[in-house]
Amino acid sequence: MIASSDSNPAFSGPVSGTLFIVSGPSGAGKSTLVSAVIKRNPGMQYCPSFTTRPQRPGEVDGREYHFVSREQFAEMVRRNELFEHATVYGHQYGRSKELILDGLRAGRDVVMNVDVQGAASARVVLPDSVSIFIMPPSLDVLRRRLEERGTEVGSMLERRLDIARQEIRRYPEFDYVLVNDDLDSVPVEFETIIHAERRSRINRGAWMDEGWRRAGRHRKAAMERTAEQIVATFAG
Ligand code: ADP
Ligand code: 5GP
Repeated sequence: MIASSDSNPAFSGPVSGTLFIVSGPSGAGKSTLVSAVIKRNPGMQYCPSFTTRPQRPGEVDGREYHFVSREQFAEMVRRNELFEHATVYGHQYGRSKELILDGLRAGRDVVMNVDVQGAASARVVLPDSVSIFIMPPSLDVLRRRLEERGTEVGSMLERRLDIARQEIRRYPEFDYVLVNDDLDSVPVEFETIIHAERRSRINRGAWMDEGWRRAGRHRKAAMERTAEQIVATFAG
């Protein structure tokens, strides 16, 4: 994985929205959770990345991703148009800097899902962002979800699992950890984090309300024991 934000040092202009960075291994459920949260919070902004990876069956250009050639991607990098960009599993990914910063400047909360390297780069650009690590319940569950998704098979699937073994150890870099075990409750927990963070920025005195207490349950320190048990299933 090669990531870059070299040309995008910390952004210093005034922004009133919050950037939520969602990351975790491939197959952890990032896209599923982000879609569920956007559906329930239409005021939040999501902008698809540009990618050089081939379009999968069922994907719509401009919805999941903007599919571009290597030359088009290189041109966007050359013009410094991307918020951050990375090479993940041999393909390039990156989002429009202008769209993200315009959303934040207009006071909208923006959510983006990136690989762990992209999350580190995004934090450098916007240190005031909130980062959430999506953790699969175990290696076996992750493998099953990737197999059932059916988008990668054979050595490509094994490659994603090998990289997951390294990525999973990086949860301590994040503000929150969500174990994606249940699709009914986890989107609600995700929203609790968003609402608590939003309120804490509007009124620091509101920190200790119920929303904040529930969000606090997912702070990485509170999750350490559970997270370490899950990381252990990736050892070997
Ligand atoms: P990512 O974006 O992290 O690569 P996806 O959102 O594509 O992962 O999820 C991987 C697969 O797992 C998808 O087929 C999705 O439907 C499924 N999935 C996601 N979350 C859950 C969950 N909590 N329970 C069961 N299946 C899930
Ligand atoms: P997939 O090819 O499975 O859709 O995505 C592969 C990985 O690329 C996922 O971890 C996804 O979160 C990540 N990704 C998607 N868009 C971006 C982006 O703009 N920047 C970075 N760094 N990673 C991205």
